[in-house]
Amino acid sequence: MQEYADQQLSQDNTLKNRFQEIEEFTSEKVNTSNETAQRIYRLPEVIKVPVVVHVLYHTPDQNVSKQTIDLLLAALNRDFNKNNADTANIPAAFKPFATSMGFEFKLATMDPKGMATTGIISKYTPITYWLSDDKMKFSASYGDDAWDSKSYLNIWICNMIDVLGYSTFPGMAAAKDGVVMSLACMARGYYGTTATVNDFRTIVHEVGHWLNLRHLWGEGYCGDDKVDDTPKQSSYTPGCPSGARISCNNILPGDMYMNYMDFTNDVCMNMFTIGQRKRARALFEPGGARSPILISKGLNIPDSEPAAVPDYYPRWLHVQLYPNPATTELKLFFEYDDRWKGKKLQIFDITGKLVMSKVITSSIEVIDISRLNPGTYFIDAWKEEEKLRAKFIKL
Ligand SMILES: [Zn+2]
Repeated sequence: MQEYADQQLSQDNTLKNRFQEIEEFTSEKVNTSNETAQRIYRLPEVIKVPVVVHVLYHTPDQNVSKQTIDLLLAALNRDFNKNNADTANIPAAFKPFATSMGFEFKLATMDPKGMATTGIISKYTPITYWLSDDKMKFSASYGDDAWDSKSYLNIWICNMIDVLGYSTFPGMAAAKDGVVMSLACMARGYYGTTATVNDFRTIVHEVGHWLNLRHLWGEGYCGDDKVDDTPKQSSYTPGCPSGARISCNNILPGDMYMNYMDFTNDVCMNMFTIGQRKRARALFEPGGARSPILISKGLNIPDSEPAAVPDYYPRWLHVQLYPNPATTELKLFFEYDDRWKGKKLQIFDITGKLVMSKVITSSIEVIDISRLNPGTYFIDAWKEEEKLRAKFIKL
């Protein structure tokens, strides 16, 4: 996660200033929030956040169901409102600091154009796996474009292979704003078994980042997470420890490793603090980086019915060819995935005899078929685990 933030900082030299501004704004709001009684403006007790989930699937079993997405949102709402049953496990000394964050996450009912939506976009992609490099956030790279981040929390679910999930921090580019979750994190609902109370905490952690929360160790040895009521700790906590863990000269009860912003196993994390709540909610004060969410129309009820879900599925699994039937020349379209370039393509006749073999060199491959006898032919090509087969007729 920090690697991602560092990478974004190195690519955008105005980002450091934006982070700085948000930090100054946050610390001012956090330090004045004791005066809430005298303030004219008050944040809603529960801040409603419209959510859009972009599901990118390559195989049908990766097309995460609405049922699973509902479980994911239920987990967010459970933990962000301190409705989790395992608050019982919070050590007594930390209990006074544990709090509801006061957020409700709901699937959008209105899309950016004012049309009805289910808040879930399921899209077939020719991409078989993804890295934490933001490509899933753009249709141009066979992902799906973000909805306006001023009005929605964007969540992408796709076959990540380098991390379980990652998130942007407020201030980063709007087109990349949101949380990405790996399919691995969906696994329980995905395979149809019943979710337990402790599932889906990777998303709780990542949405914590989206709300400007940092890791407890402040990304450095005994670093600063900019929250007063989380003790300093030396580094992240793996696994599921028990008892006090003292580091950075903190005193008993030691590290708050059961906080969602540590790396403890899902079953062993169970709390946010009052300081984290203040820090996150400061973003929604007038002028704050996430304040436009409060006037989002994403949860309005539009007049129209939800648009029919386009059928993305097998269109790209089959190569498009033109013309068919053909006489002299056949064009194969590989524009959807340049990884086809350099792969071998073979043409077989109806008896299974190989009549032509060549390497794909172009996103629109032109094949000279003038010398083939009239008849039916099959084209085969292979890329990683994916086999492509197409049929054409030579006149
Ligand atoms: Zn993190």
